[in-house]
Amino acid sequence: MTGFVELNDIRLAYGPGGDSTLALDGLSMTVKKGEFAAVVGPSGCGKSTLMKLATGLIRPQVGTVEVASKEVDGPVSMAGMAFQNPSMLPWRTTLKNVMLPLEIVQPHRRRLSRERAAYEALAEDLLSVVGLKGFGDKFPWQLSGGMQQRANLCRALVHDPELLMLDEPFGALDAFTREELWQVMRDLHAEKGFTTILVTHDLREAVFLADRVFVMSARPGRIIVEREISFPRPRPIDLTYEAKFNDIVHELRAHIADARAAA
Ligand code: ADP
Repeated sequence: MTGFVELNDIRLAYGPGGDSTLALDGLSMTVKKGEFAAVVGPSGCGKSTLMKLATGLIRPQVGTVEVASKEVDGPVSMAGMAFQNPSMLPWRTTLKNVMLPLEIVQPHRRRLSRERAAYEALAEDLLSVVGLKGFGDKFPWQLSGGMQQRANLCRALVHDPELLMLDEPFGALDAFTREELWQVMRDLHAEKGFTTILVTHDLREAVFLADRVFVMSARPGRIIVEREISFPRPRPIDLTYEAKFNDIVHELRAHIADARAAA
């Protein structure tokens, strides 16, 4: 496996002329093709900044970002993104919300009007994979928070992205719904094989879903620990209540506590 996402010795500062808030300094990380990577760290350490860099929304002052062996110099169209707030458009049905990227990203945009029925079937299919069969014609405000977040995942995946970026997508949900969505995410990743980078505060979520967990230092952020998670897949949710699982969660928590203390 080769590096699919490569961040090399990144320095990124915000502010006029990039000289006020140093968000990342000396950050390097490599995510392999098909890998599920999780990024954890103290709040404000630059996790969201890292996501914006990898998707080409912002550029570093120093260092390089590569996705699929190409230097990133603008928004990466092969990426799908989902954030904590589902931000569905209230005037569109769930199905129409899920199909939104198809109206923007090529080659789908070009094909959409001619192949609308096939694309609609594909979007309906995704909705049923995440447990929303039959909800396509409902408006987002008719769905619970957990259902909206399921639809949000479908929207991030509808254009069949090679890279999925998740920024705290389950953070606002209750614990039970969150565990359900971890399993949805686990199954989608197993089925479709996209490379994933998940930013999360939830160490259990990171250990359950990821092949590798990257721990960041306090700001300015860089990677201080890479922890391989080798539990076999598919992982049952009960794993998260076992001692060997909790040992890793505690180990990661200790790294973050150290990072905060060093700040
Ligand atoms: P995290 O996601 O880990 O909480 P962020 O990447 O959002 O961290 O932010 C990293 C640091 O950069 C924080 O100190 C934050 O206040 C600062 N920051 C983020 N965005 C901006 C911005 N647009 N302008 C100035 N500072 C910013």
